[in-house]
Amino acid sequence: MLKNYIDGQWRASHSKTLLPVVNPAYPERLLAHTPCSLPEEVDSAVMAAQRAFPLWRKVPAPERCQYLFRLKQQMEAAREELAGLITAEHGKTLAESRGSVLRAIQMLETACGIPTLMMGSHFADIARGIDCSTVNRPLGVFVGICPFNFPAMVPFWFWPFAIACGNTFVLKPSERVPLTAMRFFELLADIALPPGVMNLVHGGREVAEALSTHPQVKGISFVGSTPVAQHLYQLGSKHGKRVQALGGAKNLMVVLPDALQAASLKRTVATLVESITGCSGQRCLAGSLALCAGNPEHYGLLQREVVASAQTIVVGDGQDPRSTMGPMISAEARERVLGLLDRAIAAGARVLLDGRRTLADRPGYYLAPTVLADITGSMEIAQVEVFGPVILLGKVANLNEAIEWINTLPFANTTTLFTNSGAAARQFVDEVDPSMIGINIGVPAPLSFFSFGGSKQSFFGDIKAHGSDCIKFYTDPCTTIYRWHSDSSLW
Ligand code: NAD
Repeated sequence: MLKNYIDGQWRASHSKTLLPVVNPAYPERLLAHTPCSLPEEVDSAVMAAQRAFPLWRKVPAPERCQYLFRLKQQMEAAREELAGLITAEHGKTLAESRGSVLRAIQMLETACGIPTLMMGSHFADIARGIDCSTVNRPLGVFVGICPFNFPAMVPFWFWPFAIACGNTFVLKPSERVPLTAMRFFELLADIALPPGVMNLVHGGREVAEALSTHPQVKGISFVGSTPVAQHLYQLGSKHGKRVQALGGAKNLMVVLPDALQAASLKRTVATLVESITGCSGQRCLAGSLALCAGNPEHYGLLQREVVASAQTIVVGDGQDPRSTMGPMISAEARERVLGLLDRAIAAGARVLLDGRRTLADRPGYYLAPTVLADITGSMEIAQVEVFGPVILLGKVANLNEAIEWINTLPFANTTTLFTNSGAAARQFVDEVDPSMIGINIGVPAPLSFFSFGGSKQSFFGDIKAHGSDCIKFYTDPCTTIYRWHSDSSLW
């Protein structure tokens, strides 16, 4: 059974509720058990963080960053090992896992700039003899509640910035992929971060709710599905917390005719297919439905090229370097996608590539890439997050119709336009609801020094993740107005 990390120590949970962690490529191989930590264990993690806060906030910011510099070195040395753990518990390919560890390290690099990032402001002589300054003060204990699909990267969107700002932190990883977080806390222990600054508590829904309502918690950084994001946003807000809750997605891609001309065709199709099928489609920034503008020839060409590209994907164990796509996270996740496919086909979607029965002889939770054409806006599959390797193709008359379609959706995480027309791109960027946009980029994930987060039902809150927004989320601006009564006879 996995241990919690509280107040600088590994502590066994006394919970009797244990959840199995398996390798999705070999579900019969039990990797560990995640305990559903008890309320008193959650409380002790938060209270350890609360006790550590007064001392930690007084550690000068440049000194706080030294811990992050040291951790970055450790992470670089452990990169291959961390990638192996991610692949083992999540299933994605080693190449994908390596990429996500790199993203985590980039968060550390940006958080090392906190002395500059969290600097306040000063204005002399706002009135005669009066000065005014603002400093950004840390607030206390923050919590991170994370999803299964990026075991290394997503927690790093939050905690490095939170503690670099002088706060303390409690992380609850996904109960389905806790092993990467375990290894990362071992690395934290090696760099001798003061006890209580970072704490790890395992569990599922009950632990997430206990953290979100704990009186000593100041704020919640959440990533997961939309219903849970909305639930924890409301619960945390009701209990007086700051909440940023990143939710699910339905990311549409638009292909204009010029992107299908010979010079662009291969890149357009490869980018589109990788976006939708990468990490087995289990990315919040994954494309889902590609809308082809233009005439029937353009639509036919796109269908043929997408199928040809999807057929080159090698599905298998993520540890095998020959695999370019791993399994899905669980049997339930695969069943859910199979159900969506059945209903879409019954509603009139045309099957161009059927990945449903492939790999049925292997033990893992595999679903091979599947391509459905003639998707219409009223179909269930056009409206919900699929979160699997399913490429949906639809037809629109023009860019305006595509934008209209995108903006009818309740989700607004990301969207992509394929074109070489600057004017079309400009209109697209100006008019679409999603707030992370790609122009010929399939996964428009903002880097650590930009802010990250969608809109509408894909994001609940006011302040997004990392970039300059994180300073606003993890600090409180405190403004002081100074007047010094001068008596020059004293000096
Ligand atoms: P999930 O919502 O099932 O779980 C996320 C976290 O919430 C986990 O830690 C889980 O223990 C906890 N949780 C689950 N049910 C809960 C409940 N009823 N009350 C309180 N806590 C609860 O999400 P998942 O399946 O782990 O992750 C996939 C989802 O995450 C997808 O919808 C994906 O789009 C989304 N996601 C979004 C982003 C983004 O940036 N917007 C990034 C990654 C993943």
